[in-house]
Amino acid sequence: MTVIVTGGAGFIGSALVRRLNAQKRRVVTIDKLTYAGNPDNIAALPHPELHSFEQVDICDRAAIKRIYAGVKPQAVYHLAAESHVDRSIDSPAPFIETNVNGSLVLLEAALDHWRGLDGIAKGQFRHLQVSTDEVYGELGDTGYFDENSSYKPNSPYAASKAASDHLARAFGRTYGLSVMVTNCGNNYGPYQFPEKLIPLTVLNALEGKTLPIYGKGEQVRDWIHVEDHAAALQMAMEKGRSGETYLIGSRGEQRNIDLVHKLCAVLDGLVPRQDGKSYATQIAFVTDRPGHDARYAIDPSKAERELGWKPGHTLEAGLKATIQWYLDNSAWCRRAGQAYDRGRIGLG
Ligand code: NAD
Repeated sequence: MTVIVTGGAGFIGSALVRRLNAQKRRVVTIDKLTYAGNPDNIAALPHPELHSFEQVDICDRAAIKRIYAGVKPQAVYHLAAESHVDRSIDSPAPFIETNVNGSLVLLEAALDHWRGLDGIAKGQFRHLQVSTDEVYGELGDTGYFDENSSYKPNSPYAASKAASDHLARAFGRTYGLSVMVTNCGNNYGPYQFPEKLIPLTVLNALEGKTLPIYGKGEQVRDWIHVEDHAAALQMAMEKGRSGETYLIGSRGEQRNIDLVHKLCAVLDGLVPRQDGKSYATQIAFVTDRPGHDARYAIDPSKAERELGWKPGHTLEAGLKATIQWYLDNSAWCRRAGQAYDRGRIGLG
């Protein structure tokens, strides 16, 4: 029984691959290794003999078909994506190519593969579309996204993910393919590419650079530890109902400015600045991101109830351990940092 993980060299995909491998599951990772993909993220698996890696673009129909025919997967976790909102604002086309067209290639391959199965295997096959709460647009000061929220994506990234969510659902309804969709909030944890808010803030702080914050930093994001997300994905795959959507969140709402102050406070305790001042003095407010959503917040009741999932990390402890991980893994940070210009602001 083999599962495919697309985007398995990225931040969340690699957490899932490490989790499944630790449980001795057979996994094939498909990843193009864009600037965000890093083979180091899955280099130290405890059971390497149960893992294989295909450096392939999910838009490459022939290669995907070859892999599905050879692997005969029982399930596919689809995470490969262009994932950074700021980059989608600069240049939307790669987001449509990978997130929409690539997702379609995978759904078509899944459908072909599934149609060729028989009996129990046909009943067991599943395709999980891993998505974001950003597809729902923004909330005001109150309320939560849930499985009945309407799609109102505001960035090219969110629009491309919304399109792929719709395609996945349509393949379920039209062709009977067993498809599920999960929508999750902002992830944090080890191995996150340092263009995103938390690693960017930590690494810039340590290098004496400014800590850029959009607008007044009042936007609210719902943070979840990546390992809690990976656990939820596995539970959705193994216990979720075909055709359903599950929202994944750990009730971790934070204003960006408050989150950055928390990071600075932890850093002040762990690696005090030589001048005795707080890292918070490095905060610099910059012109807001166009179309910036004010607030995301998730009601995860359905996932908790139906999947029996619960987050294992509190935000306070999770952030502290994450910062410690970046401090302990400076070689990883250096190599990842070489892959891009860290002048950007990353808010996921
Ligand atoms: P990431 O950018 O860290 O990783 C994406 C991975 O996909 C990389 O390894 C990259 O090489 C690979 N990839 C990109 N284009 C590809 C292509 N054409 N073919 C094959 N591989 C390709 O992203 P992430 O933060 O790990 O996000 C993973 C998934 O989870 C995405 O689908 C994203 O939309 C979703 N998601 C992310 C968050 C978050 O907070 N990071 C929250 C909710 C949902």
